[in-house]
Amino acid sequence: MIISVASGKGGTGKTIIATNLALSLNKNIQFLDCDVEEPNAYLFLNPKISKTEPVGIPFPVVDEKKCNYCGKCAEVCAYNAIAVVKNKVLIFPELCHGCGGCSFLCPQNAISEVNKPIGVIEQGKAGQIDFVHGILNVGEALHTPVVRAVKNKINNSKTTIIDVAPGTSCPVIEAVKGTDFCILVTEPTPFGLNDLILAVEMLRKLGVPFGVIINRADVGDKKVEKYCKEEKIPVLMRIPLDREIAVAYSNGIPFILQKKEWKPRFKNLYSKIIKLTVGTKKGRQK
Ligand code: SF4
Ligand code: SF4
Repeated sequence: MIISVASGKGGTGKTIIATNLALSLNKNIQFLDCDVEEPNAYLFLNPKISKTEPVGIPFPVVDEKKCNYCGKCAEVCAYNAIAVVKNKVLIFPELCHGCGGCSFLCPQNAISEVNKPIGVIEQGKAGQIDFVHGILNVGEALHTPVVRAVKNKINNSKTTIIDVAPGTSCPVIEAVKGTDFCILVTEPTPFGLNDLILAVEMLRKLGVPFGVIINRADVGDKKVEKYCKEEKIPVLMRIPLDREIAVAYSNGIPFILQKKEWKPRFKNLYSKIIKLTVGTKKGRQK
């Protein structure tokens, strides 16, 4: 079972939900933080990191002795990362996606590839929970390969919980696709609703079953509830605006550790997800 926890909008409490769910289940759990630009689940789970691996992409290098400046590489690059000017091939590292197209199609075999580091993966244990997170190098724009590398660590014998970056961009799609269920965390505000609608469209296109958790459910308006009802989207849990939860969050403490009544509620959330996924014959495409 792979559960992704996403949100159209940042700051909705997605990581709190993901970490509290993991801790409430605790046994046979693997936690992946795929929010590689700003991984912060470790602040709540305090894992002991035992292994670090680099993540890189194949980056093209041109041998000017072999190159005849035919311009084929610039033609095939979908990202405009390579340009051929008079007697010079220019490569723009920040645009290169490491797809390998230019080296594959160069008629002179003048392009080789070197590994360009873009981030790392750290693995460890948070109590009984297997923990993995990806960290993108500062200034690096290419999130998706790091997300993919984190997802390659999925252990199918465990229940995997994936903390996804906010929004609906490529790294979010990469993290969510192939999961068995996605929890969308939102808040009852016009911004929350707007971004929830975008996230719902994304999940419907990906064919990933989903439900909604409304955080700070007793503030704002009722439009998120109305939208979920109209769209027949299950509201799995409502969390009120609560000072103790906010204080626990600011101290990096998962709130089920302080407010014990929430532990069975998160276990119940898991049971609801199991029921909602029964009968969905989705394959796990990583
Ligand atoms: S495709 Fe190869 S030979 Fe042609 S310009 Fe690019 S590197 Fe040079
Ligand atoms: S590896 Fe791909 S993205 Fe990078 S320059 Fe070559 S064709 Fe463009």
